[in-house]
Amino acid sequence: MSSQPLVLVVEDNEVNQLLTASVLEREGFQVDLACDSTQAMERLRERTPELILMDVQLPGMDGLALTRRLKTDPATAQITIVALTAHAMTGDREQTLAAGCAGYISKPIDTRTFAGQVRAFLPRSAPDPGPARTDATLSGT
Ligand code: MN
Repeated sequence: MSSQPLVLVVEDNEVNQLLTASVLEREGFQVDLACDSTQAMERLRERTPELILMDVQLPGMDGLALTRRLKTDPATAQITIVALTAHAMTGDREQTLAAGCAGYISKPIDTRTFAGQVRAFLPRSAPDPGPARTDATLSGT
């Protein structure tokens, strides 16, 4: 049980939130949810996740602004943050990296490969619970 990595999903769209959480939980992750930056910071005061999945477009403080803020706070600076962006276009990768993200995953998510994509970003790769397909390659370096 203790080997289940905790992921904080920051996402304002309820359907995306539920889909993301259910896919991750099915694949053996623990999931915390937040619908905006304020709620995300509250969750982070309670528990420190291994990884944060950060929707870029949030009401109020957007995901990149929140990422910059978390990266300047010693309490949260070491947490790996991966952006969730609906605009996987040239320039977005640079913006997410500049804000402090380790990378990004495009929305809509591919439920077959999503957990593998997330796992690839974990600081220490967690043991794979099953004979998952290994086609979740991440392009680029
Ligand atoms: Mn959004």
